[in-house]
Amino acid sequence: MTLNTLDLHTHSTASDGIHSPTELVTLAHEAGLKTIGLVDHDTTGGLEEALAAGERLGVAVVPGIEINTDLPNKQGEAHMLGYYIEYDRPEFQQCIAVLREARALRGERMVAKLREQGLDVTWERVREIAGGAVGRPHVARALLEKGYADSISDAFDKWIGPGRPAYIPRYKLSAEDAVRLVKSARGVPVLAHPANIPELKETLLPSLVMVGLQGLECYYGEYDTVTVARLLQLANTYGLIPTGGSDYHGPNMHPTPLGARYVPDDSLERLRRTGEFNRKLPAPAFTLPAPTQE
Ligand code: AMP
Ligand code: ZN
Ligand code: FE
Ligand code: FE
Repeated sequence: MTLNTLDLHTHSTASDGIHSPTELVTLAHEAGLKTIGLVDHDTTGGLEEALAAGERLGVAVVPGIEINTDLPNKQGEAHMLGYYIEYDRPEFQQCIAVLREARALRGERMVAKLREQGLDVTWERVREIAGGAVGRPHVARALLEKGYADSISDAFDKWIGPGRPAYIPRYKLSAEDAVRLVKSARGVPVLAHPANIPELKETLLPSLVMVGLQGLECYYGEYDTVTVARLLQLANTYGLIPTGGSDYHGPNMHPTPLGARYVPDDSLERLRRTGEFNRKLPAPAFTLPAPTQE
């Protein structure tokens, strides 16, 4: 039973989701949703199909992306969402292609490490499972199907999580550069699932707001009411749009079902207006820093 009409955080097979864009939009329609945000990792490859399906079924699709970044001082990762991006800009597509190539290279190196450990997983199979932008969840699925892990999270715990035998760090884009990248496509940059970022309040938010952050994902997945209230207060302090969604990847991937996270309609309205405002300004140029490989 859902009264929600909105889910701004979903993934498809274009990255590491289980459902094709058409299936995802169909599920959204069946769940009574009026709007979904599709935010595949480092790719906009699912957007046209999702938009077309949305048109047929009467589901509005907000074009988006999710970009993983690394924080300084071993604070872990921050994920940047970009909404209402002008995704057909060639410079933007070139940048995210570089990010995807770095993902593929890293995936291949992780598979090599697994093979060094005597595990029979192949890069061909991982690519096949991925279909689009490769991520660790695809490597995890390859491990699972060969019986080297009991579940996706077990595969991370045993093999591909930080500090585990086959872990390889990713190409490091800073969170600030992810904001700039989204802005270069005149999108609305929103910091994803921020609750566990250690220096969020003290250093990260001021620094990101300085370079153009416009939203904070306050209504995320399983966040409890205390967490949401704390994040709403921060969003208010920094003048950020509070957004949210389930982070739906398919069954058995993340705990929250599609559309099951309450997000107020006002979030979408503010996001839409801000996207419109961004498109009244010229697109700022952005150059990706050279990849550092370790
Ligand atoms: P990647 O972008 O290739 O580094 O993969 C990161 C993705 O893996 C995240 O977005 C999560 O969806 C997933 N992930 C990370 N850690 C875990 C874990 N312990 N269990 C299950 N999924 C995870
Ligand atoms: Zn994902
Ligand atoms: Fe994320
Ligand atoms: Fe996500």
